[in-house]
Amino acid sequence: MTIEEIRLLIASGTIEKFYNNRKWRNLSKRIKKRDHNECQVCKRRGRYSKAQNVHHIKELKDYPERAYDEDNLESLCISCHNEEHPEKLEKFKKKEPNFFNEERW
Ligand SMILES: [Zn+2]
Ligand SMILES: [Zn+2]
Repeated sequence: MTIEEIRLLIASGTIEKFYNNRKWRNLSKRIKKRDHNECQVCKRRGRYSKAQNVHHIKELKDYPERAYDEDNLESLCISCHNEEHPEKLEKFKKKEPNFFNEERW
C-alpha cells in the first residue's frame, strides 16, 4: 500500500484497512523483532511487558508519509498503547454503560 493510498483511506475514514496490508504486517513484525518483543514504554519505566502492538509515534492520520518510517514506530503492550490513544479509550468508556444496561434487561 502506498502513501497515496493511505491518504485516500484517511480521507474516507477507513484507516483501519491500513493495518491489514501486507507491507505493514511485515514491517510491524520487523519492528517487534527490533524491539525484542518488548513494550518500549514499560521498558523506559523499568518494567517488562510483551509487545502486542506496533504504534505510530506521529499519528498515522496526521503523518501518513511516516507510515513505514521505522523511526516513527515502536512496540507497545496493549495498556501502554491505550494510553497513547486516549481518544479511543474515551469512546470505549462511553459505550460501556449502554452495553451494561442492555445486558441487565
Ligand atoms: Zn507497556
Ligand atoms: Zn498507536
